[in-house]
Amino acid sequence: MMVGDSRVAHGGQAAPDLLIAGAGVTGLWLALKAARVGLSVLLAERAHVGAGASGGFLGALMPHSPERWNGKKDFQFRALVDLESEIATLEAETGLSCGYRRVGRLMPLTSERARTTALERIAEAKANWGDRFGFEVNHTPDRHNWPNIVSAPRGLVHETLSARLMPPALTAALAARLATMPNVDIRLGVGLLSIDRQESVAHLSDGSAIGFGHLALANGVDAFAFLAAAADQPSVSLGGPIKGQAALFDADASPDLPLVYDDGIYVIAHDSGQVAVGSTSEREFDDPHGTDVLLDDVIKGARRLCPLIRHAPVVQRWAGLRPRAIGRDPMLGPVPGAPRILAMAGGFKISFGVAHRMADCLVAEITGGGGPDMPDSFSVAHHLGKAR
Ligand SMILES: Cc1cc2nc3c(=O)[nH]c(=O)nc-3n(C[C@H](O)[C@H](O)[C@H](O)COP(=O)(O)OP(=O)(O)OC[C@H]3O[C@@H](n4cnc5c(N)ncnc54)[C@H](O)[C@@H]3O)c2cc1C
Repeated sequence: MMVGDSRVAHGGQAAPDLLIAGAGVTGLWLALKAARVGLSVLLAERAHVGAGASGGFLGALMPHSPERWNGKKDFQFRALVDLESEIATLEAETGLSCGYRRVGRLMPLTSERARTTALERIAEAKANWGDRFGFEVNHTPDRHNWPNIVSAPRGLVHETLSARLMPPALTAALAARLATMPNVDIRLGVGLLSIDRQESVAHLSDGSAIGFGHLALANGVDAFAFLAAAADQPSVSLGGPIKGQAALFDADASPDLPLVYDDGIYVIAHDSGQVAVGSTSEREFDDPHGTDVLLDDVIKGARRLCPLIRHAPVVQRWAGLRPRAIGRDPMLGPVPGAPRILAMAGGFKISFGVAHRMADCLVAEITGGGGPDMPDSFSVAHHLGKAR
C-alpha cells in the first residue's frame, strides 16, 4: 500500500492508512511510529488513554534470564537496549518526563542451588548481553537493607540491564506527542464494534463505518476474540486475561535504587520517591478490577523484603488484566487470510519493554520497508497453530 493513498470510506470519511483499536502502551507506540513515517492514523479507544492494563504504576523493564537464548529473548533484549534512546527522543519532543531510569535489578538467592545457577548465568549474560551490561553474583547488597539481607541468605544477583519507567507518564507523553501530529486523529470514548474483513471496513461505537488500509488490534485482552474472528476461527481461544494487583507506597525512596525481584514480588522505586510493589498473577477471579487479600499478601512480602517501606503508607491499590496470548509470546503481524488486519497484542508481562519494537515490526509490515526481525513464534499463524 502506498503511504498517503487516498481511500474514501463508507459515509464519505477519508480512510486512514492505519486504524488502531486501543490506546494502551502498544496502540500508542504504534500510532507514533506509523505517524512518524507519514501514515495517516486513526486511533480509536473505547474509554481513555491507559484505561486498560497500561494504567498501572509498576513499569518494570526486566530481561528474561540470559541462558537458553532464543528469538524472543533476543527481541526483548534489543528492545530493552533501544528503549532508553526512544524515551529520550520522546521526552525531548514533548518536554515531558516518562520516569525512565536504567537502575538495574537485585534478585535475592535463597538456596545453594539458586546461587550455583546464578553463577552459571554470568557467562551466559556476557555471551548474550555483551559487555555493556553487568551480571554479578554478590554476597550482600551495595545499599543497606535494599533488600533486607535476611531475605538473601545465599547472596544476590545484581544485573545492570533492567530499567523502569512510570506507565502513566509514558502514556501521557505518547498521547501528548500524537496530539501534535497533523496525520493523527485520536477518538476517545469510541470503541471498535466489528470488522468487515472482505470490505476492509470497521464499525465503531459512534455509528461510523471506517474503511482502512490496515487495522491493528491493540485492544489488550479484547484483541484475542477480534483476531480469532478475523482469522475466521471465532471459536478458537487465542489468549485471555491474567489479573494482576499492585500497590503504591509513599516512601521518599532514592530514585537510583535498583529494582528488587524475589519470588514473584517486584519492588520499584520511582523518580517521585514513591515505591510500587506487585504483583499477583491470577487466572481465576470474580472482580477484574478489585483488590483484595491477595494484594495484602504481596504488600506484606514486599515490606519484609525492603524495610524502607515497612511503615510507609499505601497510597494506591490497583488491579488490571494482562493480555496473555496462548503460548505466552506476544502476537504480532497479519492475520492469515486477512492480511490487512494486524495483531498488536499479547505483551503479557513485558509490554512496556517491547511495545516500541513491536510497533517497528508492524510499520515495516505496512510500508514494506525494513524493520526488526520478528520471531516466528510471535506470528498469528503460530498462535493459531498452538490454539488448535
Ligand atoms: C498488576 C500489573 C503489573 C504489571 N507490571 C508490568 C511491568 O512491570 N512491566 C511491563 O512491561 N508490563 C507490566 N504489566 C503488563 C502490562 O501492563 C500490559 O502487558 C500492557 O499494559 C498491555 O498493553 P496493551 O496496550 O496491549 O493493552 P491495554 O493497556 O489493556 O490497552 C488496551 C486498550 O484497548 C481499549 N479497548 C478495549 N477494547 C476496545 C475496543 N473494542 N475498541 C477500542 N478500544 C478498546 C481498552 O480500553 C484499553 O485502553 C503489568 C500488568 C498488571 C496488571
